[in-house]
Amino acid sequence: MSDDTIFGKIARGEMDADIVYENERIVAFRDINPQAPTHVLIIPRKSIPTLNDIEPDDASLMGELFLAAKEVARLEGLSESGYRVVMNCGEGAGQSVFHVHLHVMGGRKLKWPPG
Ligand code: C5P
Repeated sequence: MSDDTIFGKIARGEMDADIVYENERIVAFRDINPQAPTHVLIIPRKSIPTLNDIEPDDASLMGELFLAAKEVARLEGLSESGYRVVMNCGEGAGQSVFHVHLHVMGGRKLKWPPG
C-alpha cells in the first residue's frame, strides 16, 4: 500500500524528524506543535492508516508501540512524574495524519477528560 503521509515519509527516512528513539519496526520523534513540554509521536514503520485498520497479525507491533512509549517516557524523565499516551482514531477524534501514531505527553499537569 502506498503511504504518502508525512509519517510514512519519516518512517522510510525520506523526511527529517527530531528522532528520540527508533528500531527496525518503530520510530519516535518530537511533535512539531507540542502540546506539553514533552510531546513525542511513536509510529510503526509499517503503513497502517488508523486503529480501525489493525489486524490480529499487528498485535505484536501494537504492543511494541507501548513498549516504545515506556522507553520514551524513561528517556524523557517522565516515568515517575506521569505521562499520557493517546491514539486518535478518525477525524472525529482529531486524527489529522493517517498513519497510526501514539502521542506521549508529559512534563506538565494534564487535565482529564481531554477536550
Ligand atoms: O492525532 P493526530 O493525527 O491529530 O496527530 C498528528 C500530530 O502530528 C499533531 O500533533 C501534529 O502536531 C503532528 N505533526 C508533526 N509533524 C508534521 C505534521 C504533524 O509532528 N509534519
